[in-house]
Order: sequence, then structure tokens, then C-alpha cells
Amino acid sequence: MVGLLTLLLSRGFAHAVAQTPVTLAVVFHVARAPDGPVVDAAFLSERLARANQIFAAYGVAFSLRATVALGAEHAAVETRDDRDALDSQLERGVINCFVVRSLRDVDDPTQVRRGVHWHSRTHPGAHYVILSSIAASGVLAHELGHFLGNPEHDQAAGNLMSYDWGTELPVLNATQARRLAQAVSGYLRRHELQAE
Ligand SMILES: [Zn+2]
Repeated sequence: MVGLLTLLLSRGFAHAVAQTPVTLAVVFHVARAPDGPVVDAAFLSERLARANQIFAAYGVAFSLRATVALGAEHAAVETRDDRDALDSQLERGVINCFVVRSLRDVDDPTQVRRGVHWHSRTHPGAHYVILSSIAASGVLAHELGHFLGNPEHDQAAGNLMSYDWGTELPVLNATQARRLAQAVSGYLRRHELQAE
């Protein structure tokens, strides 16, 4: 009986969430290069639109709060220290996304990364997305998936948290969708993120 009630309540909650999306604000910190910002506004809006397309099914939306300039010394993120150094720029209550010209893989320096969800070692609790200027349109959504409750990768083709998104809109499975909902409500409850 309790199980059934819980099921009905959780279904009702899922329905309510799908009806009224929670909108989270994103601030893009875009590194400068000698010839201007490393990406343009169209790059950012295309990736945000892709994230909105993917997360709409789960009642989460993203809005652009601001695009701010990041110093040229951050354009090439090579080391763990370089990633940590970004935490001095964080804005409160929003998802901070740093967009840099290049992003080195710190575990295998022969490789570069398209994006990463990074936990600062110098400010415990601070975490943010770092996106490379070579990131395809779905990379921001994948990193937001990490930010919002799903740190692990999934092997299933077509899953947002896999490395094989397929040709359709990438999805989250039921467990991932539940973790997403829990993470969002936790962030809002703790005032780490504010809904728009
Ligand atoms: Zn990942």
C-alpha cells in the first residue's frame, strides 16, 4: 500500500516536473585570445539550445544569464592547477561554464578533451564545467549531465552519459533521470543554484 502510494506520488511528481520546467542560469566565461574571444555567441547559443532540447524531457531548462570575458592566461588549460585557477572567477547561484581554446587531458597528456566537469581542489565544494572551443554541440549537455547528479558514464548507445550519442536525441535512463531530479532539488534547497 505504501509502495503503491509512493509510486503514485513519484509519478505525479515526475508529471508535475515535466509540466513546469526548472530553469537554471548559466554564466559563460569565455577566454580571450589575441584575435578575440575563443568562441563567438553563436557557438554558445547553439550548445545551450542543444542542452535545452535534450533536458526538456526531464523538466530542466537552461537560460543564458551572462557571457563574461576570461583572461587570456586561461585560454590554454593544460594542468590540474590551470583548472583549479578558474575557481576565482565563479559566480554564485548559477552554473559556471568556462570556455577555453584548448583543454588538455590531465590523466593522459597526449590527449585533449572536449569538455570536463571539474571539482576544484583549492575550493572544496566548488565545481564547474570547462568546455573546449573544439567541443561539438552535444558536449555541453553531457557535462551538464555530470554537473546535475550523474558523475558516471553509461555504455548504452544513445545515452547522454555515454560516448556514443547516436543520431537521435540523446536520453537519460530512468535511474539517471531520478538522480537528475534529486540533484536539481538538492542544489535549489541548498541555494547553490537559484531557479529563474
Ligand atoms: Zn563525461
